[in-house]
Amino acid sequence: MRARTGLSGVLWICLALVSPALAQQRGAAPASPKLVVAIVIDQFRYDYLTRFRSEYTGGLKRMLDEGANFTNARYRHYQTVTATGHSTFLSGATPAMSGIVGNEWWDRTTSRAVTSVFDSTTRLLGAEGTGASPRRLLQSTLGDELKISGKGGKVIGVSAKDRAAILPAGHSADAAYWFDGNSGNFVSSTYYFAALPGWVTDVNQGRPGDKYAGQKWLDHKLPAGGKPLYNELEASPYGNDLIQQFALRALRAEKLGTGPKIDVLTVSYSANDYVGHRYGPDSPEAHELSVTVDKLVGDLLKAAEAQAGAGNVIAVLTADHGVAPLPEENQKRRMPGGRFDAKAVQAAVESALQAKFGGAHWVAYASEAGIYLNPQTAADPAEAELVAANVVRGFPHVSRVYTHTQLAGGQVAADELGASLRDGFNPARSGSVLFLLEPYWIFGATGTSHGTPYGYDTHVPVLFWGARVKPGGYHANVAPNDIAPTLATILGVETPSGSVGRVLSEMLK
Ligand SMILES: [Zn+2]
Ligand SMILES: [Zn+2]
Repeated sequence: MRARTGLSGVLWICLALVSPALAQQRGAAPASPKLVVAIVIDQFRYDYLTRFRSEYTGGLKRMLDEGANFTNARYRHYQTVTATGHSTFLSGATPAMSGIVGNEWWDRTTSRAVTSVFDSTTRLLGAEGTGASPRRLLQSTLGDELKISGKGGKVIGVSAKDRAAILPAGHSADAAYWFDGNSGNFVSSTYYFAALPGWVTDVNQGRPGDKYAGQKWLDHKLPAGGKPLYNELEASPYGNDLIQQFALRALRAEKLGTGPKIDVLTVSYSANDYVGHRYGPDSPEAHELSVTVDKLVGDLLKAAEAQAGAGNVIAVLTADHGVAPLPEENQKRRMPGGRFDAKAVQAAVESALQAKFGGAHWVAYASEAGIYLNPQTAADPAEAELVAANVVRGFPHVSRVYTHTQLAGGQVAADELGASLRDGFNPARSGSVLFLLEPYWIFGATGTSHGTPYGYDTHVPVLFWGARVKPGGYHANVAPNDIAPTLATILGVETPSGSVGRVLSEMLK
């Protein structure tokens, strides 16, 4: 540079001013993407990318070939369930920070069980019933930060599940839409608007689920119609197709990626989860769902690109959690594990507390967020927790037990499992006693499930593709919590308020 003097130097500066490419080389901010496509595949283990790699021809192939592939992304929290994963996705927060400690928990202020998005002040739109909202999410999302900064355009979430549509989109989202298995309609909530937009009403008038009546896949056949069809549909490749058709319609109707601001479309494909629970990760069904969702992701990327323009889209793809093998499959491999009876634990806790302190109905509720004890005058709450914890500890295949008092005071083992419980614990919302099973042990008498801090539940894809992404395989240990701060950096907005992730700067152009 020092050799550049006189006229040539002036010319060089002029060139730098007029050429975006040169400006970028000189460290100025490159043009921002106009559309963020944020994809979750519900219950999609990382190994589905590698096991079926040769069969992918659509979006997964494209993101693997042209994008950044983080091969060691693991959730850091316990419980690894749908609501916790989806709330982490675009907030970067742990459940401890976001307050989303499970799909459901016991609300101590109203003494009732609530879901992560249940909101009695809202109504469903498109069907009868109480609506849902992101009000229980305590932190901001990427969409919220875009809106706050003034750079945000439309932010829209789509899924078959309410929580999977609502939580990634955030508080200031324009809309979230999900599928209602009772009515067969796509629905939203009065949280977002007083009435559904016309294009959504049009979709529902076309009875979007009905065209899949009687459809076959592998050796399964969908019911002929009505509620049985809508419920079965969700546990088939057609469930993802239903979500896809709605997401493509939203993209077009809302003209996402064509305005002066940055739009966000979040899409969560739910069918992989319903199918995985029923048949397990080693089944032909899980394989079929992986191969078919690859095509859908490919079509979604193509449509986004066609509308927003090549180079104007950034896409990210992850999963909210993985899944354990079916215990019976695992035993064939001479691997450990089995089925654990959660109800037996609750009954034992109840009778131990009654024996020690008298009273009745000690166990108010139990879910993945813990066992909740009713406060009773007969006992000091901390003492009651300890009695309950000792009962749980006495069951075979229980690996860790902590009381609310211990977790609130940070008294957890200084290892990875202790950290995962700490990250999943919110004092206002988590249970009185939290416990963790040994690896490969699951709750439930049939099928399989997820929720643990072990690799089969925590290791998920993290793929970035498009504007500002430097392609390649990245093998360092990362977490899905890193997605939100990375996107915030790319888009030049504030990092979401509860983010504990780091910016994946190694993949930034
Ligand atoms: Zn899920
Ligand atoms: Zn699930």
